[in-house]
Amino acid sequence: MADKKGQALLEARELEKHFPVKDFFGRKRQAVKAVDGITLQIQKGETFGLVGESGCGKSTLGRTLIRMYEPTGGQIMFDGQDITNLQGTDLLPYHKRMQIIFQDPYSALDPHHNVEEIIREPMALYSKEPRSAIDGQIVEILKKVGMKEDDLYKYAYEFSGGQRQRIGIARALAVKPEFLLCDEPISALDVSIQAQVVNMLEDLQQELGLTYLFVAHDLSMVRHISTRIGVMYLGKIVEIAESDELYENPLHPYTEALLSAIPVADPIRARNSKRKIIKGDLPSPMDVPKGCRFHTRCPYAKPECGMEEPPLLERASGHYTACHVR
Ligand code: SF4
Repeated sequence: MADKKGQALLEARELEKHFPVKDFFGRKRQAVKAVDGITLQIQKGETFGLVGESGCGKSTLGRTLIRMYEPTGGQIMFDGQDITNLQGTDLLPYHKRMQIIFQDPYSALDPHHNVEEIIREPMALYSKEPRSAIDGQIVEILKKVGMKEDDLYKYAYEFSGGQRQRIGIARALAVKPEFLLCDEPISALDVSIQAQVVNMLEDLQQELGLTYLFVAHDLSMVRHISTRIGVMYLGKIVEIAESDELYENPLHPYTEALLSAIPVADPIRARNSKRKIIKGDLPSPMDVPKGCRFHTRCPYAKPECGMEEPPLLERASGHYTACHVR
């Protein structure tokens, strides 16, 4: 099992999320296997980075873990409790403990509500405290994310992208969660603002003891913030390691190729570095290749790679990979 010694806050056990695809007559014909049997543990207090090409299933994995999407199979454990099949009021306390920060702060904020209403809404849903007690907490949360009390009665369109994302983070924090799914929270922001938001998330994690699942396709930023990183390909985790270990010693050919695609600022190093281009497009998650699902694009593929799916095994301490060759 791909884990790290410690106490797991959130755990996936052979988790699956398949989306049915229906024909013209509404009959189920195929399924998009967005998450296809994933086992991992996210430890209390860590930031688990999740990377992979667009369409690999990383956001779906995050959203299934927090029970925003119904799992198709497998099990989800939160703080030692099986939450896989909870519904309605039984699930509500766990939704309070697991919140999400969305990629696009503008579409995630209700344009008809001002900041005060946006932050109050989840608090009113989950808290039994009187309105007067909530008032003070709203101002406190807003200050925590670097906004001013004067911003309370403004609307989302009056703010920059970075400020909107701060409001989104304030809304997520309003119900005092323990776990935050950060679903590409910086990819819609200017590069100059990205580091500010990441630094703020790190400070909040320290102050509030939060645990993060940080979904990203920017591999340089994910290294900075993550304790460990999982690499996803076509619905499966193909490698997990501590952040520096993964960047310095990638084992899976797919990870190697992703890392070699990171732009290098130094022109001499860039000229001397050998980029490993991944051939072809990501296969359809409705028609997953047999055997190793990366074999149709892998430069090291051997005939046996197309026969059997490699399991995720520990190759060095805390470093797991799913490859027959490495
Ligand atoms: Fe490549 Fe084979 Fe390893 Fe898959 S199992 S990543 S095809 S070498």
